[in-house]
Amino acid sequence: MAIFMKRSIVIEAPAKVNLTLDVKGKRSDGYHELETVMHQVNLLDIIEIAKAAGGIQIKSNSSLIPTNEENLAYQAADMILEKHARHAHIEGVDIFIEKNIPIAAGLAGGSSDAAAVIQGINKLYELGLEEGEMLELAVAIGSDVAFCLAGGSHLARGRGEILSRMPDQFLPFIILVKPDFQLSTAEVYRELDLTQVEESPDNSAFLAAWEDYDIINIARNMGNVLETVCLRKFPEIAAIKAELREMGALNALMSGSGPSVMGIFTEEEQASKARAQFCTRYQEVFLLSSYVKEGYSKGISP
Ligand code: ATP
Repeated sequence: MAIFMKRSIVIEAPAKVNLTLDVKGKRSDGYHELETVMHQVNLLDIIEIAKAAGGIQIKSNSSLIPTNEENLAYQAADMILEKHARHAHIEGVDIFIEKNIPIAAGLAGGSSDAAAVIQGINKLYELGLEEGEMLELAVAIGSDVAFCLAGGSHLARGRGEILSRMPDQFLPFIILVKPDFQLSTAEVYRELDLTQVEESPDNSAFLAAWEDYDIINIARNMGNVLETVCLRKFPEIAAIKAELREMGALNALMSGSGPSVMGIFTEEEQASKARAQFCTRYQEVFLLSSYVKEGYSKGISP
């Protein structure tokens, strides 16, 4: 009987949004101490990983991301090959990234690609890595990679790598608007002056509302201290938030270090109208919901 070995694998790499983001202080290692609720949404990069004769090759439908060692997916592959190549007879990998997640938008696209590569190579080459081993690799690549690997909804602390799992809750209608500019995460944090922060999110209140699936109070307790930097510099972000609320969103918030803005809706009709209205002015507008691992449906973009 012939034994067919898997030659390639396809993995979904979902975007995340930050439903809360608080910065508790600056650490001696230069990073900021965070307390943030991260949540996966069904806006997906699709990662195909194929066994190859040698080396790591990255290709993508997007010309906007690096395909060399600067790509976080490359770094993930490189780390696994380095650690496990000999014992698992890995030679190389060809990776194709179908990029759907806007870049440098506060949605952790690169981190999610890296997490997908760790999971994908583990499966494809049957490495049998335990969750803890994969998390170790993830943290070495970047602060958000650990969450992307763990998935779902988590309260993240430290640099973002200390994770507490939250119950799975489903947000059915999220409008995500990505203004036509990018923001560098490092720059936003550099410009953050904690003495200027007037209001921080109440993560305990958020978690209590989340636990009860009390969507009114989930929305009410959303907050992001990085808006202090970004709304001042880019009034367009504040304008998008206001417009989303006018259109029926329970609340609207910038995700991560921006500039993406999300609005939380409970009525599909209002969400669809908002999407149509923003589509006339923005190229990247999505009607999304929470990511559910199996049986996903892709976010709709114009
Ligand atoms: P975060 O929310 O984690 O701060 P982000 O959404 O703001 O992330 P990314 O889309 O991950 O930002 O990209 C930030 C930078 O990382 C880009 O400018 C890009 O050059 C680089 N990068 C490296 N690998 C990737 C990748 N696989 N996809 C997207 N960008 C990548």
